[in-house]
Amino acid sequence: MILTGEQRWVCPNCPATARTVGADNRFHPCPGLAGLLAPMVLDGVRCEIRAVVREDYVSGEDVRLDGEGRPVMAVVTTRDDGQDCTVYAPTALLRRC
Ligand SMILES: [Zn+2]
Repeated sequence: MILTGEQRWVCPNCPATARTVGADNRFHPCPGLAGLLAPMVLDGVRCEIRAVVREDYVSGEDVRLDGEGRPVMAVVTTRDDGQDCTVYAPTALLRRC
């Protein structure tokens, strides 16, 4: 038996797949989440991956927008044994006075 360490990744929100050797995780611009950078999961893992839309006032903050122009706070992956979160924190701006 030869062990290759190859892993097969899938996305529950689009048809994207990938194969890697030795990678811890895999991200892709997901068409199922309006182009957000979203994680892939190992093939066979039951999960839900969803975007969390920001519901408070954006004001002048530099926030992540999805492909439809909605401000997104995070992408949450919920599995049977836990949850992961990719956070899109607003970016600080520096203004000269
Ligand atoms: Zn996807």
